[in-house]
Amino acid sequence: MPRFRYPCPDCRSTNSLHDPDCRFDGTAWEDIERAYVSILGVLSTGATREGRLREAVDGPWDRVHSAALSRLRHDQRVQETPGGALELLSPAEYREEVAVPSEDSLQTIYEHGSVPGCHDHAVFSLVAYYRSVGFSWQETRERVVDWLEESGTWARGGFDEASPGEVVDSKRHVYAQAYGWRQAAREAAAVVERSV
Ligand SMILES: [Zn+2]
Repeated sequence: MPRFRYPCPDCRSTNSLHDPDCRFDGTAWEDIERAYVSILGVLSTGATREGRLREAVDGPWDRVHSAALSRLRHDQRVQETPGGALELLSPAEYREEVAVPSEDSLQTIYEHGSVPGCHDHAVFSLVAYYRSVGFSWQETRERVVDWLEESGTWARGGFDEASPGEVVDSKRHVYAQAYGWRQAAREAAAVVERSV
């Protein structure tokens, strides 16, 4: 199955299998990719007000453009300047922003750490998340190992593996398959919330 460079603006899929209730199921991938490329092309020339951006993209601004811009803002690739213009984050700024997950369930897991009973889903979701924001396997491994130690997760026990590194290595397939992180994050966060 071909993989796409940009996530679906609604369900974040990067292949042609959308979530069942996705608004863009059936929308041609060329249209989605064209909207992203066009928005990023304009913003790469400098901070731009949204009104100007809408006029500057190729072709008419439509719901795919709106959704792609929302996705870029939500994913912190684009941010608003104090003056109200939209600007593209540099690769370094972007990496710094996304290193600490901001989505609710992931944030819960990231901040509180995991607890016995949901380690599997918690580690799965973090590995899948770092993969989805473009971190290499080495970087992902490093981040998740640090998180296991710093969040107190490893100290809580409940692992079959002998070290945090082994725990992360056991999820290498999650990285390789580029699985989605949402479902696992939701399930793990629900367990974490009940126990903190
Ligand atoms: Zn979708």
